[in-house]
Amino acid sequence: MTVHLYERDLPADVFAPGPIAVDTETMGLNPARDRLCLVQLADGRGDEHLVRFPPGDYAAPVLKAVLADRSRVKLYHFARFDLAVLRAYLGVEAGPVFCTKIASKLVRTYTDRHGLKDMLKETIGVDVSKAQQSSDWGAPVLSDAQKDYAASDVRYLHRAVEVLTERLAREGRTALAQACFDFLPWRADLDLAGWAESDIFAHL
Ligand code: MN
Repeated sequence: MTVHLYERDLPADVFAPGPIAVDTETMGLNPARDRLCLVQLADGRGDEHLVRFPPGDYAAPVLKAVLADRSRVKLYHFARFDLAVLRAYLGVEAGPVFCTKIASKLVRTYTDRHGLKDMLKETIGVDVSKAQQSSDWGAPVLSDAQKDYAASDVRYLHRAVEVLTERLAREGRTALAQACFDFLPWRADLDLAGWAESDIFAHL
């Protein structure tokens, strides 16, 4: 199990075929203000691959091709944010999508604890640290603690998706989940277009 860190883009052909877990780290929660600093990816076979971006350098042709590849499902936890950031900075629609937070909300209806830490603890019994969640992801040199934290955000998503997929089937909510996943790129576009704070489905 190795964490690989690259500058500006992925090398070619680092992933086996199949779904890819994706996460992003940014300077904050507002994509219009807070730049994309890091994209983390894993194919579920043990290694994590991190791509660090200096300010303003988002060419990354290999990474963009992987993210835009419609033959690979992308696994996220809270895809809505990552999709918006990837659209805003890399100009790609990084789907098709499986979002473990949406899946968790559709099956773990007995709790309101749908953060990554709680979801992983219950679905696969893994305890991840969130200690580096708020740190300076724009720093030119990332600490080992930052790298390991960033990698751990994609390390377990394939295993969680297996459990959540079974639970969605058991509860008869597979189609509902898929419809939500398919809408997420549009939800992200609405966020970027100025509807981030309002629910267009609400009455008022
Ligand atoms: Mn993260």
